Amino acid sequence: MERTGCVVVGGGPAGMMLGLLLARAGVDVAVLEKHGDFLRDFRGDTVHASTIRLMDELGLGPGFRALPQSRLQNVAFPVPGAGLVTLADFDSLKPPYNYVAMMPQWDFLDFLAFAAKAEPTFTLLMESEATGLVFDDDGRVTGVRFRSAGGAAAGGEQVIQADVVVAADGRHSVLRRAAGLSPKEYPVPFDVWWFKLPRRASGGAGVAGVVPAFGDREAMIALNRSDYYQMGYLAPKGADARIRAEGVERFRRRVATLRPDLADSVGSISSVEDLHWLDVRLNRLHRWYADGFLCIGDAAHAMSPADGVGINLAIQDAVAAAKRLAPDLRRGQVRTATLAAVQHRRWMPTVVVQTVQRIMHRALFVPLFAGKFPATDAGSAAADTSRLRRVLVFVIRHNPLMRRLLPRLIAFGPRPEHAPGFARPLTH
Ligand SMILES: Cc1cc2nc3c(=O)[nH]c(=O)nc-3n(C[C@H](O)[C@H](O)[C@H](O)COP(=O)(O)OP(=O)(O)OC[C@H]3O[C@@H](n4cnc5c(N)ncnc54)[C@H](O)[C@@H]3O)c2cc1C
Repeated sequence: MERTGCVVVGGGPAGMMLGLLLARAGVDVAVLEKHGDFLRDFRGDTVHASTIRLMDELGLGPGFRALPQSRLQNVAFPVPGAGLVTLADFDSLKPPYNYVAMMPQWDFLDFLAFAAKAEPTFTLLMESEATGLVFDDDGRVTGVRFRSAGGAAAGGEQVIQADVVVAADGRHSVLRRAAGLSPKEYPVPFDVWWFKLPRRASGGAGVAGVVPAFGDREAMIALNRSDYYQMGYLAPKGADARIRAEGVERFRRRVATLRPDLADSVGSISSVEDLHWLDVRLNRLHRWYADGFLCIGDAAHAMSPADGVGINLAIQDAVAAAKRLAPDLRRGQVRTATLAAVQHRRWMPTVVVQTVQRIMHRALFVPLFAGKFPATDAGSAAADTSRLRRVLVFVIRHNPLMRRLLPRLIAFGPRPEHAPGFARPLTH
């Protein structure tokens, strides 16, 4: 392929959704994904209510619901000095969009890829890694350079020309840098180390759980999967070298101390190589576009995993982008004003969500990693000195507006997008 309407770089949630929607608009679109499949390290499990509604609007609801998944009915966590605080109870939302689905991200991406491949104008190029942009004499982006394992020039560099290039290549976006765009970084106090523990059969099938545990300058979450736990160990930023130097036995002890009920499984962590370090980032671009070029999803704004909404935000970006790009692409001319309109539409939700994440970092994670939480006394009223935290807990528990607003905000996000008419099945 030498030319297409839109090249989307990155087959994550943002890229696959944009590819699907543009293909349904009848536009030629190629998605480049550097990996050979979607099956890789844990990258988040959540599919929010707004995305489930989108699946219905796209006529994909039945297929989506048939995928193995569990339902998250509420988000609650223990706060030192306050006990278990329910941040959001999704039961208060109108069915059928009153839950967050939890499923491995690769299942969801496979599903989107399958739906997109049914469209004749869609092309998915796996094992195709973008290396840079192509510019014309006026500095407008006109294409992408990439290396493809199986392409004609196997291993060599190829070029696809396009009316617009969309960078959906994630937090370490190569294309964003190639376009001369660099994000503003916000401080993040922690990193995450992901690993798995085997799970015994339990009676809780179908109901998802996110179980947090807090210790001294450390925390851990466990996400229930059908036959294992996806574990996330949280410690202060910069601790990776220390954790690895301490060795696997020390790490097993940490896990067993935080979750004594899982102590008999820690032997399954065979070495510190089993720990996948996530360098947590919270950032956003001031400008998401250049002539002929647009960033969406994590490439435009990396999200903290603090409240697990990055996938949803990435998908919402894709919907907003598809709605605005499709008419221009049909005309064969993508205006810079259209690209600016995408950023304009998605700016407010991004800023709102990132602000909430920064408040959570300040209220919960900064004191935790500074050792200001009681070590094993998460339910005690003692030693809770943070006024901000106390105010937040009071508002969450007792303010009726917040109790209605928070589930909605988490399940749908601010300014949720609906499927464009051109992407809906005729019967919908
Ligand atoms: C460990 C972890 C846990 C998370 N947990 C959650 C969660 O529970 N819920 C949630 O909502 N969010 C979570 N997030 C955030 C969420 O994964 C992201 O916000 C979301 O995936 C962003 O989607 P995206 O499509 O913009 O980018 P990504 O999902 O990062 O996808 C980018 C894609 O681009 C590909 N790519 C990168 N560079 C190139 C290149 N040069 N050429 C071709 N392809 C390229 C990558 O292989 C990848 O497939 C988590 C993130 C991480 C890292």
